[in-house]
Amino acid sequence: MEVKAKIINNNIEKEIKVSSALIDTIYEIIKKTYLEAKEIYVKNPTNADNEQLSDFLTYILAYPKGVETPKVIVSNERVNFNNNYYDEFLDRVLVCFSGGVDSTGALLKLIDERKNPVAFWCDYGQPYRNPERKAVERICKKLNVPLIEAVLDLSDLISIGGERFGHVFPARNLMIASIGLCFRPKEIVLAGLCDELVVPDKSLRMYDEFGKYFEVPLYSPFVDMTKTEVLCVWKAKWDKYLDARETVSCYSDNGDCQNCSSCAKREVAFVASDYTDYYPEVFTNQHELIEGHWFSRVDIFQYERRTDMLIALSKYKDKLTLKLQELVEYNCEKYKDEIAKRRKQLEKLKKV
Ligand SMILES: [Zn+2]
Repeated sequence: MEVKAKIINNNIEKEIKVSSALIDTIYEIIKKTYLEAKEIYVKNPTNADNEQLSDFLTYILAYPKGVETPKVIVSNERVNFNNNYYDEFLDRVLVCFSGGVDSTGALLKLIDERKNPVAFWCDYGQPYRNPERKAVERICKKLNVPLIEAVLDLSDLISIGGERFGHVFPARNLMIASIGLCFRPKEIVLAGLCDELVVPDKSLRMYDEFGKYFEVPLYSPFVDMTKTEVLCVWKAKWDKYLDARETVSCYSDNGDCQNCSSCAKREVAFVASDYTDYYPEVFTNQHELIEGHWFSRVDIFQYERRTDMLIALSKYKDKLTLKLQELVEYNCEKYKDEIAKRRKQLEKLKKV
């Protein structure tokens, strides 16, 4: 299959097409997963060992829990045709970009290190692709970073298996990365935070093994960090390039609805990091989510998530609902040592 891409660089737009045996193979695997195959047989589009690659691809598909996913069997036979690469950005660092705090932070880190990154965004039929495209284009223009926008229409596949997979799009990041390989980058950045490495194609194993099979390293610069920590560093080092509030992670009409779970999580990080110094309305608008869904799991949250949430909410305790005030008070006492330790950690990051 051919993947169309638009390149926006210095206000000049160009349409190009790329393709590869790897993209064809990943597409085939995704399609058969949606079609509920039990086993998927493919030829080997890489130079890697076929058994190891079989194991890796099977692992990538095994998500979410409770959905039966297929076993991938890669044959000895190699396939290496249909490769059409594009070399304008040869040996650059490609950043998988979505306009959120994490991927924008990754871009800024590389800019700050003078590593000359290229942003790469993929429209694969995700529900919020239009506002996402707008955000991505606006930020790249502001940062004067070249942007590659690849378009891959998987909507007919998503409509077949959408119900079974819910929001999950199998092997999405692997597909995006395999398109990225057509630009022959030196490395690919897929920004994942330590508390958000949930899907197999954004996991430690993905970061560890991608380079072994596909011969280009793929990593996250924030693999040991949370969103709050990234924002602490952002304020100290990258604010001169872009205000973090300009990133978008909620795709309502104005990109900042202050009334969804994505906004709630984001504001915890903004407040806990002291990036902002005002009360976010979402703490009131989404109080039921916070009181119920979050606080019912507070004891099993990772330490960082728990303490960041308590630090953020306690900062504006008087403005919270009464129920939330009680929960915050009780848990701040219960976890006071943890919170003190966390505050110290965050303070340190602000001083880089
Ligand atoms: Zn929102």
